[in-house]
Amino acid sequence: MEYYGNVFRPPSEAKSLIIQATFGCSHNKCTFCYMYKGEPFKIRSLDEIKASLVDIHPYYEQAKRIFLADGDALMMKQKDLVALLEYLRERFPRVERVGVYGSPKSILIKSVDNLKHLKELGIGIVYLGVESGSEQVLKDVNKGVTVEEMIEAGKRVREAGIQLSITMINGLGGKPLMEDHAIGSAKISNAIQPEYIGMLNLRLYDNTELTRQVERGEFIPLKPKELLDETKLMIENFELENTIFRSNHASNYIPLKGTLNKDKARLLAEVEESYKYVEDIAKVKKIIL
Ligand code: SF4
Repeated sequence: MEYYGNVFRPPSEAKSLIIQATFGCSHNKCTFCYMYKGEPFKIRSLDEIKASLVDIHPYYEQAKRIFLADGDALMMKQKDLVALLEYLRERFPRVERVGVYGSPKSILIKSVDNLKHLKELGIGIVYLGVESGSEQVLKDVNKGVTVEEMIEAGKRVREAGIQLSITMINGLGGKPLMEDHAIGSAKISNAIQPEYIGMLNLRLYDNTELTRQVERGEFIPLKPKELLDETKLMIENFELENTIFRSNHASNYIPLKGTLNKDKARLLAEVEESYKYVEDIAKVKKIIL
């Protein structure tokens, strides 16, 4: 099976059969993102997708999970996505869950009933890059949506009964917006109540607008201890009913994992403890990442 361009998937889809339903990202304008640069967004036809599955490895014939790449497969027209999911059900009868990245815009072009139909056909989880709950940060990083639209998109997925996994980026507001980013990100999560929150540390990649802003002195990244201050403030402000919170990506300096709000006190104690060694870990990560 051939893949085109850069293929990304969430860590939890490591064992899934990855099928490119689209190429690239429909937005492709976030200042920090390096993922699909230079790749024009394209929605593939069902025939093209079927053809790509002709010679897949026999291991994947028994796949229990499928992940529809690339950046925004929910941009497919509802009827085409329905046809694709119906086909995948026949072709891979053992599949229990189909996952997909969703952008706020692609979610908002679908009604709750549309999403419920997709759930009946196998879509079990949507991964939504929220990144921040600060209006100013979303604007600065060119996310292309407001906080209100982001909340509406998240709620719509949840209302359809589909699991929702959102990501936040620690440090995305830099120093001046640290508090706004931390408290806003907690508030947006509280409004959505997702099943999962994954928090990454901001990383600067070559050839992104954010890296150029850093080089010009327009964006000052947070220092390791400031990242912890921000994490602490965010966790303090979470009011979540039953959300699995993970901050254990390779980019993170300290691994955190728990269910919020149940584990809030433990997570805050772990953050407090890590001030002692975060600078050392940051030095090591700088070398290996
Ligand atoms: S962060 Fe997501 S929405 Fe933004 S450009 Fe990258 S892939 Fe597209």
